[in-house]
Amino acid sequence: MAENILIIGGGPAGLHSATLLAELGVNVSLVERESYLGGNPKKFKYKFLFPDMQPADDVIGELIRKAESNANIKVYYSSEISDFKENGKKFDAAIKSVAGSETKTFDSVVVATGFEHFDPARDAKYSYQLFDDVIDIKDLERMMGENNFVRPSNGLPPRNVAFILCVGSRDRHIGNQYCSRVCCTVSVKQAIELREHFPDCEVYIFYMDIRTYGFFEDLYWQAMEEYDVQIVKGRIAEITSGPGNTVVCKGEDTLLRGPFEIPFDMVVLASGMEGGAQSPEMAKKIGIELDEHGFLKPQNITLSPFKSNKDGVFLAGACTGPKAISDSIVEAGAAAMNAYIYAVKNR
Ligand code: SF4
Repeated sequence: MAENILIIGGGPAGLHSATLLAELGVNVSLVERESYLGGNPKKFKYKFLFPDMQPADDVIGELIRKAESNANIKVYYSSEISDFKENGKKFDAAIKSVAGSETKTFDSVVVATGFEHFDPARDAKYSYQLFDDVIDIKDLERMMGENNFVRPSNGLPPRNVAFILCVGSRDRHIGNQYCSRVCCTVSVKQAIELREHFPDCEVYIFYMDIRTYGFFEDLYWQAMEEYDVQIVKGRIAEITSGPGNTVVCKGEDTLLRGPFEIPFDMVVLASGMEGGAQSPEMAKKIGIELDEHGFLKPQNITLSPFKSNKDGVFLAGACTGPKAISDSIVEAGAAAMNAYIYAVKNR
């Protein structure tokens, strides 16, 4: 008899885990709280993915297509786990949807509850939601995805744009002292896209450190050398309104050691990643550990980053910490295979 495995979350990690397991003949129940699959890339209409600018729709669309077309996967849209109990080495979970509630017994579980974008309105110095022309990287991604990148205040193309890095990350005042890993690379990618789209638009990036790790460093050099993006080591203290419907970045150039005040048509905040909204509730229901930032805590970060502290429950993707989609896919494979091994061993 085929194994039954529960996957919670239909973003890139959950989709990839589901497809791999289904290809092994497993009966997969994929529970997604939204009415659609694809997670944040779908929700915020990401346009291109770094490092090679693959259209996000192609990548996420392929993951969705594989999951939706596999007869071994039952997708529960707009659904949640309303009850969860251990049953020996197995698990009884109640899945609540608009159609009602269904309780099933599962051999193992993969939790892939993803992440949330940090809300920059929580830090008043950035004036997010105060000025129309201050947006963040997810807003920009959505605008680009809709082919509608203009100044929200007047509908015109911007003449200059500033990116501000480390918004809501590496910030003890906010409570997120960790680095979100991907926002440097996303910002550099978006700066290149802006320069391609609007060759006359000046683009600045204000940074504490540039962390375009690994091969993503190529994008950083490309941005400077081929696209003339101005990359300035500086801290922004405040964003205020400026003359002629501009927004002014006030800060300090920490290399030249001098204050600056520069008016921009638009400011883009590189907001970081926080734990998934569902993760605390799922952690409580399932009985798995959550860290102090709202991410799910692996049992051993080095040896088994895909394993929770509870036998038979595995973790995949950005629910355990900030990471790129490619890393989520790798982890989803590891979580799926370990969920399968656990299920087979405890038949
Ligand atoms: S990836 Fe870059 S922008 Fe994001 S938190 Fe780390 S250093 Fe800051």
